[in-house]
Amino acid sequence: MPILVFVETAEGKIKKTSLEGVAYAHAMGGPVTAIALGDVETAELEGLGKYGASKVLHAADPKLNKGIIQVYASVLSKAMQDEQADILIISNSSLGTPVAARVAVKVGASLAANIVSLPETTSGFVVKRSIYSGKAFAHVELKNQKKVLVLRKNAADIKEVGAPVKVTPYSVSLSDADFAVTITSAELATGEVLLPEANIVVSGGRGMKGPEHWHLLEDLAKTLHAATGCSKPVSDMGWRPHHEHVGQTGIKVAPQLYIAVGISGAIQHLAGVNSSKYIVVINKDAEAPFFKAADYGIVGDAFEILPKLTEAIKKAQ
Ligand SMILES: Cc1cc2nc3c(=O)[nH]c(=O)nc-3n(C[C@H](O)[C@H](O)[C@H](O)COP(=O)(O)OP(=O)(O)OC[C@H]3O[C@@H](n4cnc5c(N)ncnc54)[C@H](O)[C@@H]3O)c2cc1C
Repeated sequence: MPILVFVETAEGKIKKTSLEGVAYAHAMGGPVTAIALGDVETAELEGLGKYGASKVLHAADPKLNKGIIQVYASVLSKAMQDEQADILIISNSSLGTPVAARVAVKVGASLAANIVSLPETTSGFVVKRSIYSGKAFAHVELKNQKKVLVLRKNAADIKEVGAPVKVTPYSVSLSDADFAVTITSAELATGEVLLPEANIVVSGGRGMKGPEHWHLLEDLAKTLHAATGCSKPVSDMGWRPHHEHVGQTGIKVAPQLYIAVGISGAIQHLAGVNSSKYIVVINKDAEAPFFKAADYGIVGDAFEILPKLTEAIKKAQ
């Protein structure tokens, strides 16, 4: 039985989280069928073979370009049926998570979200889920034959295990009922790297003293092609826009690298960053709680360290 993986894309490119989905399905033992909906570059899709997909389906109908949740759920449910797939893997995202819930209802599947590691299958099918904003884990048994697994970022390591594969067109038949809700227009909040999608995040707290010093963080972010984030008080005071607020009550991020500058590391902030692969903390107080959650720390004044760090990275590049 193949494992079906829904591949999310942005501007024709495959999202890293979907490569993780393919790698996860391959690590489960496959065989892996990946499916992408709407406009995607063919070379991108063929490349999925390198990460473990043995078959790649592409539903290129232009009606699928808008990422409408109900429509995607219809197509993926049908694809599970057509491919005789008992397991569907989807990434945790603003599109993926609601699509997963609808597919589970349509096909009568057990659903688990926020999965952080491979399932345990020695007795039943048990997945490990991150709960309470990452402060605890739950082990959940999925008993239905059909299963929808929603992966948290960094749930699998992306490895090259194969070679590019040919893409198979997948035709869809959509009814008016699928378009009961449509997206009339969409616009990006910012032209820069989007915080929830970023591989690297440079984030600043009250220790940055004021918005006039943010250019130091922006310079570092630009050098690293990173998104910028901030602590809650920083956005509350209007130093930065609210969509940059990271934490329990803000955006939850899971980049490869989170650089926290002048942030104390309150539990509510950590709740939004503790799925990051590596955390680097810059703080002048060696006792700042954030250091306990850090992989690397620099004790010192951000205003001295940031320009030197940016300069050193530029030289290394
Ligand atoms: C219900 C609730 C929900 C919350 N949700 C969130 C949330 O989602 N996200 C969030 O961030 N917070 C949240 N908070 C607030 C949280 O408890 C903290 O108050 C907040 O995270 C602190 O922000 P900060 O670290 O920027 O500021 P501070 O706690 O004031 O820390 C500033 C840090 O900067 C350091 N510093 C000062 N000067 C320098 C310098 N020159 N160089 C280097 N370091 C320096 C200091 O040593 C200090 O550690 C929430 C609180 C509550 C009650």
